[in-house]
Amino acid sequence: MAPTLAVDPHAPDEAAIAEAARILRAGGLVAFPTETVYGLGANALDEQAVARIYAAKGRPSGNPLIVHVADAAMARQVAAEWPDAAERLATACWPGPLTLVLRRGPHIPASVTAGLPAVGVRVPAHPVALALIRAAGVPIAAPSANPYTGVSPTTAAHVAAGLGDKVDLILDGGAATVGLESTVLDLTSAVPRVLRPGGMSLGRLRELLGEVAYEPITKADDVALPSPGLAKRHYAPRARVRILPDAAAVAREAARLERVGCWTFGPPPGEGVMMPREPEAYAARLYAELHEADRRGWAHLLVEAPPQDDAWAAVHDRLRRAASS
Ligand code: AMP
Ligand code: MG
Repeated sequence: MAPTLAVDPHAPDEAAIAEAARILRAGGLVAFPTETVYGLGANALDEQAVARIYAAKGRPSGNPLIVHVADAAMARQVAAEWPDAAERLATACWPGPLTLVLRRGPHIPASVTAGLPAVGVRVPAHPVALALIRAAGVPIAAPSANPYTGVSPTTAAHVAAGLGDKVDLILDGGAATVGLESTVLDLTSAVPRVLRPGGMSLGRLRELLGEVAYEPITKADDVALPSPGLAKRHYAPRARVRILPDAAAVAREAARLERVGCWTFGPPPGEGVMMPREPEAYAARLYAELHEADRRGWAHLLVEAPPQDDAWAAVHDRLRRAASS
């Protein structure tokens, strides 16, 4: 089992950060907190270190990694082009849960981007992540620190349970506050396009850019692949997840099933969780509650559908993936 170092999320201990940075520079893997979820980090300039990420996760090599940098100046070194939209978004949204897909710069190995000519880059809004990137002095490639197709980790304990024997060090900086991955925005197309909804809302991006394209997946059994690496079954707990139109439908189904848990906006019928009515609060709970569903050994998870509204796009996306079989 990898050692875990606890760090104050607001004022990370310098010795712990220095040790983690040393491991990264030596080609090792460090799991670290960001505001979205925990990342599994490696030196993005080191092809062998990057290969270890794919091996540890059991992730197919056709699934690109996000490169984490400390600021916009470092992002410009990762990308081959820096369009006006990137400058505007970097100023308004970074550090924060927004990944920009830009043309890949010459220093980034093709394995980081699964061979694609574009690279995903972002500045995480977490003092531990920022201190680690600065101390390492290199961009850090980091997918979520969970086995492939599993539920993303929002605590160091989730990381230890899923990948504890495959990483060299886990930095424990407490629970992730956003709790759901970054929004991935493609700036290489004529109209900026959201490839994956996430912590930065569509509304905010449209305020900043005007037109932004987004095609949500609509049916649980028809989860498309809007970008490379968006696997159909993803973020999936062991329980069979179903999204039902309202609380009455949840109660009806729950009554005829065994080992069933429910997520409802009011008090759940029997075992379950009363989920927040507010999209950010719901997102922050989502993965933690999927992990909890596994821990409780539910065979079925019945979810009352959230409102059909753009503010809920990221939550809908993750629920549909969790529900796809
Ligand atoms: P994860 O690392 O698990 O948060 O997943 C990263 C996701 O970001 C990938 O699965 C892609 O959907 C997206 N992504 C990262 N880099 C690129 C890229 N170069 N082009 C398109 N999508 C990307
Ligand atoms: Mg992931």
